Amino acid sequence: MNARPPAFQAAAEAPSVSTAKPFLDELFEDGVLIPSGVDGLYGRSGAFEEVIDRFETLVERFSKEDGAVKIHFPPAMPRVNMEKSGYLKSFPQLAGSVHSFMGNDMDHCRLIAAIAEGADWSEFQKPTDLVLTPAACYPLYPTVAAKGAVPAEGLLFDLKSYCFRHEPSKEPTRMQFFRMRENVCIGTAEQVTEFRERWLARGPELLRSLDLPCVLDVANDPFFGRGGKLMARNQRDQQLKFELLVPVNSVENPTACLSFNYHQDHFGTLWGMTREDGEKAHSACVGFGLERIALALFRQHGSDPATWPEAVRKVLWG
Ligand code: ATP
Ligand code: ZN
Repeated sequence: MNARPPAFQAAAEAPSVSTAKPFLDELFEDGVLIPSGVDGLYGRSGAFEEVIDRFETLVERFSKEDGAVKIHFPPAMPRVNMEKSGYLKSFPQLAGSVHSFMGNDMDHCRLIAAIAEGADWSEFQKPTDLVLTPAACYPLYPTVAAKGAVPAEGLLFDLKSYCFRHEPSKEPTRMQFFRMRENVCIGTAEQVTEFRERWLARGPELLRSLDLPCVLDVANDPFFGRGGKLMARNQRDQQLKFELLVPVNSVENPTACLSFNYHQDHFGTLWGMTREDGEKAHSACVGFGLERIALALFRQHGSDPATWPEAVRKVLWG
């Protein structure tokens, strides 16, 4: 995503990232992740989950201090809302949808026969009303719009969801199912930019307290196709997206562990989120890639959290 490798001046030491063995193989051998046979779909060990839990407690401390309302949506959302959101215009390559069998006994026999023959059986499945959630904040906006005007002081939410993106990869940091914790602000342009600034300061502080080297950089989303190039350039020119990058797979291509997005009034206009003064609401979100943060910690400090530096353990376990 970045043309130049960013300069890491962060934590106590230079990142101890080696290129000896693929990181994914190490994670499997150490039992941190459990293979499923499909790239990007893994089981997680108890230790891995505990690290995520502890990290979330740190994030939640800030969210609570801000007075954010906590909501957890399931990992699926209404198909109609994905259609309306424009996700399929920008990221058709990443979207996933839920299909199910809706036939009669005869169709069932044909389905079983197709599977037995190793033939394509997808024609026996029809789209349901559900699609897989691609980002934790997507299910939020229509529910906010349905509740009426956005109050003058703005709205703050603390969200979490399993997300799906069809981007199978051997890099453990690029999963097909992963969790995103997000804080979202909806209000005036000033309120939401101030919110983003606040998190742009907190994010690096938080990761450095865990002895993770990190650097902020302007970024863009992976918009699809030729038209997408222009959208990506616009997003960068206007600095609408920043990422907090940490070396996990390599120092040359650090991984975006947090992202800070300013949507202007895009979602306000799309979903009809209006402020009390009649203006369209602006929105911004900060997304924590929970698996990526855990992987960064395992990469930096080793496969057994019991042996992590005392200072890091203290921040996580108190
Ligand atoms: P990338 O550029 O690496 O594809 P992104 O910019 O598309 O990521 P966002 O849409 O900003 O990511 O998602 C918010 C956060 O979710 C990211 O900062 C990252 O930490 C995490 N994330 C995104 N995609 C994945 C994935 N495939 N596997 C694990 N975590 C992910
Ligand atoms: Zn978001």
